Amino acid sequence: MRKKIVAGNWKMNKNFEEAKALVAELLGMVEAEASTTTEVVVCVPFPYLLTVQQLTAGKSIKVGAQNCSEHTSGAFTGEVSAPMLQSLHIPFVIIGHSERRQYFAESYAQLAKKTDQALANNLTPIFCCGEPLEVREKNEHEKLVKEQIEASLFHLSATDLQKVVIAYEPVWAIGTGKTASAQQAQDMHAVIRQHLASKYGAAVANSISILYGGSVNAGNAAELFACTDVDGGLVGGASLKSREFTDIVKAMKA
Ligand code: PEP
Repeated sequence: MRKKIVAGNWKMNKNFEEAKALVAELLGMVEAEASTTTEVVVCVPFPYLLTVQQLTAGKSIKVGAQNCSEHTSGAFTGEVSAPMLQSLHIPFVIIGHSERRQYFAESYAQLAKKTDQALANNLTPIFCCGEPLEVREKNEHEKLVKEQIEASLFHLSATDLQKVVIAYEPVWAIGTGKTASAQQAQDMHAVIRQHLASKYGAAVANSISILYGGSVNAGNAAELFACTDVDGGLVGGASLKSREFTDIVKAMKA
């Protein structure tokens, strides 16, 4: 059975005091809403990982990083490796967020290596894919998203693929307030699942959690999460507000 997951992506927001305050609020609110069937994750900036990990220890909120290096160790100034994250017992890491693809020119091959690093170090990769607006306007979104998945994930064994969480995030919906309609989300999630099935078989494809991301908020979450192939959300802006993020978690339970 695939897991339901609501993951927050704080991006490069909050100073340390604000970050601790947000976690304290979330612990007070989300904890009461957490269910055994929904995993709640907060992906925080690197310097806060250990503190947030300690603050949430034994609670229902799990911690994730927002990136990791494709290298194991060495002369890569400024980078953070998957073994480092593992040594902090961090369970999740976002790989291939569209902002990393766009601003840091992360390539398909690099993302394949980052995914390998995450898996080799017992981290669950939340692998992001999704098309920019001009690609959707040309009606080439299915082709591009299939290509992104194929190029960076299809080298994995079925066993490893089943450890990956996929997040479909249309770039035109990220941070713009424009959400994909529930139908657009469901259609793409079904395309992704079908593509996974074409290589790994239906049983494997059906066991993989596919999250939707792109301006998810307390008002639209329930409709998106009700779609057959939507197993949760990757939430940016709304994850910075404790009440709103909690309401999104609640929408998953409904
Ligand atoms: C994201 O950062 O992955 C995201 C979906 O952001 P937002 O919810 O703000 O659109």
